[in-house]
Amino acid sequence: MQIADRCVASFNYTLTNDSGEVLDSSSGRGPLAYLHGAGNIVPGLEKAMVGKQVGDKFNVDVKPEEGYGAHNPALVQVVPRSAFRGVDDLQPGMQFRADSDRGPMSVVVTDIEGDKVTVDGNHPLAGATLHFAIEVTEVRAASAEEMTHGHVHGPGGHHH
Ligand code: ZN
Repeated sequence: MQIADRCVASFNYTLTNDSGEVLDSSSGRGPLAYLHGAGNIVPGLEKAMVGKQVGDKFNVDVKPEEGYGAHNPALVQVVPRSAFRGVDDLQPGMQFRADSDRGPMSVVVTDIEGDKVTVDGNHPLAGATLHFAIEVTEVRAASAEEMTHGHVHGPGGHHH
């Protein structure tokens, strides 16, 4: 069975950046399952999965536009330290939930200078080219319920 719309595919993956650093991987967690055609995974990877079958191993490079998007400078803001009342030891790299015009978003502290704290609301992988090494481990037809929900149920997917 080849991967196409209305299929559930499971795969092992290693995600590296341009320098070859491993950013994420399925190792130790087991394969990730997704519903093909539902936008469960980044568009560039979903495109590359079309027509693949169990046992296929391949590498794919995904440009930011087909990954987590370009880095948007408008999502980088400088806020006063007083916005972090109750945080004792504010450090770059810390993540917070923040309210924005577009609803709650996750921001990461990227810089602290005196009273000025720079936060970045971009996805951590925005602007990055993603290098995936993929191994397809299972392909099956999606159930009617999975099609309705737009995601996979069971191993590697949602449990609810
Ligand atoms: Zn569901």
